[in-house]
Amino acid sequence: MPAPERRNPRLLALANQKGGVGKTTTAINLATALAAKRKVLLVDLDPQGNASTGLGIPRSERGMGSYALLAGDRGLAELVRPTQVPTLSLVAADAELAGAEVELVALPDRDRRLRQALSAAGNFLADYDYIFFDCPPSLGLLTLNALVAADGVIVPLQCEFFALEGVSQITRILDRVKRALNPGLTLEGIVLTMYDRRNNLSELVAADVRGFFKEKVFDTVIPRNVRVSEAPSHGLPVLLYDFRSIGAQAYVQLAAELLKRERDRGETTAA
Ligand code: ADP
Ligand code: MG
Repeated sequence: MPAPERRNPRLLALANQKGGVGKTTTAINLATALAAKRKVLLVDLDPQGNASTGLGIPRSERGMGSYALLAGDRGLAELVRPTQVPTLSLVAADAELAGAEVELVALPDRDRRLRQALSAAGNFLADYDYIFFDCPPSLGLLTLNALVAADGVIVPLQCEFFALEGVSQITRILDRVKRALNPGLTLEGIVLTMYDRRNNLSELVAADVRGFFKEKVFDTVIPRNVRVSEAPSHGLPVLLYDFRSIGAQAYVQLAAELLKRERDRGETTAA
């Protein structure tokens, strides 16, 4: 019997070498919003494990996760676990991930471990429409593994002073990874986070970033919203914690914009 035709999932890394810019918040909530329409997997690649905690899996219950995947100790299918969102699965950050940056250096193909682990998962991957990688706040080997495995990168950017300098640094890295390791890598988009309408600086920075990166910047802006920051302490995405909050609604809108971009792209490539 011929194998049924399967689409590949789209692999997106949330990356920015700065901490506290909204990578994890965007990973959790964009993944949750997309899960209303698609099957989604989130891989927590940050030793701090905030995406795992934020999805209701405390440190003590993590067991094996992304470290086992990178080390080649377990296959993806064995490491995926359900979350409270039925169509969103998680590979948690395990305790050993903290040592991974150092240990990976000694392993063969140290920058393509994740890519290899995903291709080894074969047909299991086809279960998913989107796979997100939540990266740590550095440009070390964990982030590099995500960039080598990904199709696209979403850069969350906090509207603050020097934001543009920070984003130029990550785009330079993307260019280098693209040239040397992953020619297919694209900048999927920049998402402005923790936007404060009462603060002039937010507006100035947003205008600057849009002037420079043009249509690469998502139209959707994520406002600063206390419900967004409260949700992780309940182990819930803000969409489950308070769906009607402006933060949750912004992520619903961001997911819709991402899907629309993919549709538009599909039409262009088909033409
Ligand atoms: P990163 O993963 O880039 O380090 P986080 O997503 O963990 O950043 O966000 C840093 C902090 O800011 C967290 O405490 C988070 O709850 C808070 N935060 C993120 N986005 C928002 C928002 N839109 N409104 C309010 N607080 C936010
Ligand atoms: Mg984080």
